[in-house]
Amino acid sequence: MLPGNMMDRPLTVPSILDFAAEIHGDARVISARVEGDVHRYSYKDAHKRVSRLAHALRALGIGDGDRVATLAWNGYRHFELYYAISGIGAVCHTINPRLFEDQILYIVHHAEDRVLFLETSFLPLVEKLADRLPPDLRFVVMCAAGDLPETGLNVLAYEDLLAGQPDTIIWPDLDERQASGLCYTSGTTGNPKGVLYSHRSTLIHTMGLLAVGQSIGLSPERSLLPVVPLFHVNAWGLPFAAPLVGTDFVLPGTRLDGPGLFAFMDQEKVNTSWGVPTVWFGLLAEMRKHGRKPNGFDCVLIGGSAAPKPMIEEFERDFGVTVVHGWGMSEMSPVGSVGVFYARQRALPEEERMHLKTAQGRRMFGVEFKIADGEGTRLPHDGVAFGELHVRGPAIMSAYFNDEAATDGAFDDEGWLKTGDVARIDPNGFLFLVDRTKDVIKSGGEWISSIDLESAALAHPDVAECAVIAVPHPKWVERPLLITVLEDGSRLTAGEMQDFLGGKVAKWWLPDDVVFVDELPHTATGKLSKMTLREKFRDYRLPGV
Ligand code: AMP
Repeated sequence: MLPGNMMDRPLTVPSILDFAAEIHGDARVISARVEGDVHRYSYKDAHKRVSRLAHALRALGIGDGDRVATLAWNGYRHFELYYAISGIGAVCHTINPRLFEDQILYIVHHAEDRVLFLETSFLPLVEKLADRLPPDLRFVVMCAAGDLPETGLNVLAYEDLLAGQPDTIIWPDLDERQASGLCYTSGTTGNPKGVLYSHRSTLIHTMGLLAVGQSIGLSPERSLLPVVPLFHVNAWGLPFAAPLVGTDFVLPGTRLDGPGLFAFMDQEKVNTSWGVPTVWFGLLAEMRKHGRKPNGFDCVLIGGSAAPKPMIEEFERDFGVTVVHGWGMSEMSPVGSVGVFYARQRALPEEERMHLKTAQGRRMFGVEFKIADGEGTRLPHDGVAFGELHVRGPAIMSAYFNDEAATDGAFDDEGWLKTGDVARIDPNGFLFLVDRTKDVIKSGGEWISSIDLESAALAHPDVAECAVIAVPHPKWVERPLLITVLEDGSRLTAGEMQDFLGGKVAKWWLPDDVVFVDELPHTATGKLSKMTLREKFRDYRLPGV
């Protein structure tokens, strides 16, 4: 091998904020604070506070490889923690507060966290868990000393930590392969599993996002609001991509319901927002109520679960908001594909264009796709064959953190990560997710896609939300059951729903029954919890069985 003669400078997370402070110094971070007001500052100011926080962390004895946990909403202090912790060589471990208490306890112990930074609103939770947390864990409440609530815990105030620290810093020499972040996936079975990101993987993932930047709302002189939480998979990479590109970063705090989000987006003239479909159901309801979209809003990125076609159509046709559908997973930093459209796709007849928008997009640079059947044989990308999607790339996990049992079986013989998603890929590279391997309905040896059935049902104007799950059947092994939440005041019957689906899906795909419920269960990341539904309807008797 003839080695290249280029400098071996490491790719590091703090270099992003250094760059933003110098080049996009005036672009802003705007946060709806838990305290109730709106906080605004520039990336240049953020850099100063990050430097002070980094010095403060060192003063607390935090060093290379130490895990520092956060329990916080989307706000500027959480953003500062991302950079200060990883900047000094420690690991920013974001905890999802929506996890079950036992899961939170498990991951704090498993990660061996040294310090926990928490928002005031999570103090009651931490007080409740305190006896079962590691005895030497330190607590920092993310507020000023004067705002510290009464507590029996021994806590420090965030702003006290920063006081008196220098607002410049020379970052230590970091190895780009060292860990920078840690996030546990909220597995529906077993213990949560940790994904340990490195500086290098984070930078490569960020640059992959920027390669499609404009199409996903990432460009300077615009503003972007992540509804996707900073506490789950790096808010899909936005805390890194936004400052690098110089877009204003608008953080909603706890204003996450339809009315709260509408008002905040409207006030701050947010151009792009990213989040899961559940959030958009709420925002769209509010947009309908107002008869308009929030001021300036023109692009929405939908991911985390399949974007239903009626949702895509409503955003695009009724409100002129371009939908970009994306797919990813915690193990992938997390974005794997995004639905970037070029002139050729934009010019398609309306129905075809909408259909293509339901695809989960095309792979990002740095992510390779392979689909394989049950025996591991590669399948063609012909838009027809479908099998389990496998991925590989420099921003994709190579093992779970300190968890051999979970790592075993996560990869195939060639070292590709098995995603657990069933997909087909068309010749232009568009990915169509058919289902989760465990959600697909196996009827008489054939597969029925629960996602396709849900999309078809959601096209009915009376359906607010729905889920399709497999229920046992003596002859076919499994058959689909449609579980539906109706819009207020609707009197739709099961028979009418089945008639509606009649022309839209293959006859043998038609759900054997339709049940109506007041609400559907969701996971800690806002996705439908089909596991809970399967449990609830485990003994459900289909008609005629
Ligand atoms: P998580 O690691 O919690 O982000 O979950 C990752 C999983 O969410 C993926 O493996 C998919 O099953 C699902 N997912 C993510 N994005 C989409 C999407 N656009 N459509 C359908 N499923 C999705």
